[in-house]
Amino acid sequence: MKNSLHIYNTLSRKKEHFEPWQPPFVGLYACGPTVYGNAHLGHARQAVTFDVLYRYLTHLDYKVRYVRNITDVGHLENDADEGEDKILKKARLEKLEPMEVVQQYMNAYHRNMQELNVLPPSIEPRASGHIIEQQQLVKKIIDTGYAYETNGSVYFDVLKFNEKYAYGKLSGRKIDELLGNTRTLEGQSEKRNPIDFALWKKADSSHIMKWPSEWSEGYPGWHLECSTMSLKYLGENIDIHGGGLDLLFPHHECEIAQNVAGSGKEGVKYWMHNNMITIKGQKMGRSLDNFITLDELFEKGHRLVSRTFDPMVIRFFILQAHYRSTLDFSEDALSASEKGLQRLQDALFILDNLQASSKGVVNAEELNEKCIRAMNDDLNTPVLISHLFDGVKTINSVQEKRISIDQENLDHLKDIYNTYVHSILGINPFVKDSSTTGISDKLIESILQLRQKAKQRNDWDTADEIRNTLQKMGISIKDKKDGVDWEFM
Ligand code: ZN
Repeated sequence: MKNSLHIYNTLSRKKEHFEPWQPPFVGLYACGPTVYGNAHLGHARQAVTFDVLYRYLTHLDYKVRYVRNITDVGHLENDADEGEDKILKKARLEKLEPMEVVQQYMNAYHRNMQELNVLPPSIEPRASGHIIEQQQLVKKIIDTGYAYETNGSVYFDVLKFNEKYAYGKLSGRKIDELLGNTRTLEGQSEKRNPIDFALWKKADSSHIMKWPSEWSEGYPGWHLECSTMSLKYLGENIDIHGGGLDLLFPHHECEIAQNVAGSGKEGVKYWMHNNMITIKGQKMGRSLDNFITLDELFEKGHRLVSRTFDPMVIRFFILQAHYRSTLDFSEDALSASEKGLQRLQDALFILDNLQASSKGVVNAEELNEKCIRAMNDDLNTPVLISHLFDGVKTINSVQEKRISIDQENLDHLKDIYNTYVHSILGINPFVKDSSTTGISDKLIESILQLRQKAKQRNDWDTADEIRNTLQKMGISIKDKKDGVDWEFM
């Protein structure tokens, strides 16, 4: 199968031509959320980034198996194997069963993803459902000599691994610097070296989520689940593994070490990382009090914004930046995205109603080729969107009868917008039905009657104004000989 897709591989630090291990099959793994709180803008950016990759690979006719996990155990507050399990802490604070916390936030995450039009993955495995497989991988790593047990916990021996393989090649960190920077935290004396990481942790008596093992009653280390579940569902040759840049170290670095120590193979051909969302130039974080959840943005409101925004505006805002650039959030930026999206949507409506001429000057294939080039250049969605906006100018010119288009090019143009806007960028019309607009059918009918009367007295300005206003509300109308057809876009 031939394609011209190039993607930036974090491992080689350059754009590479994408060639899967076994075309037409593509194994794609993206780290999913730890479900102990509501999904925020960072979750949205990561999910939308890999959703567009999934959609584009599918568009290129690959058979993609997309695995996105749910972390429901083992993610401690501190990445260095210390602190309380994030889910247990939430359960303690809210007086819930840990699995109630998991269910609640997993449901909320799914709802948010649906609102953002993020397609569900092919498989969504949960860490707690793969305890046996995780224990098997720990055993393998002990057998190959790269892990050791202390007091019922099992740790990965980073220094020993580094003697034979290079630890830190993904993140570019040097072992000496890591040794210099890692503090020995309380309780870490069990480790031979502070940069070692836990594969299995012995649980203390108050710990609820724990499982029997040959080492202790305990639970798996956070990095272990993604190695285990990617190996299980995608095999030892995984095409693409992705996640947010915040997962690069230690999470993904440790995954590579586990894969190599356990199976002798690095496993992943292309590592992809999306950059972070900043808020007024600052990192977003729960501790910094600038944390915006998707529910707040979509419906509840937040002190950093004066109003709420449609999820499609958030999706469009994310896609207007390249996934490897930082994206700075502000209400002004969102409002600009909203205007842009409205303009695009207006053009789609116009395109739907455009009339072809017997001859035309518009060459739709030129636009198509530019769009393909943009996507093939490491999923350059901002450039793709700018080409689509150039096309909007063409659409408007045809409507204003300044240029003409023939039927073949008109059909091609419609196909291009349908493919790129809906199928690949995943942008849905932003007002879907009367239940979300709160507008009743009766009200629309009576507005249309007013428009009909305006037309009868040749008041075309008023008729057009009504049509445009309805369109902005997500209602498209089509004039017919014997009246008007209308529908929610
Ligand atoms: Zn992961």
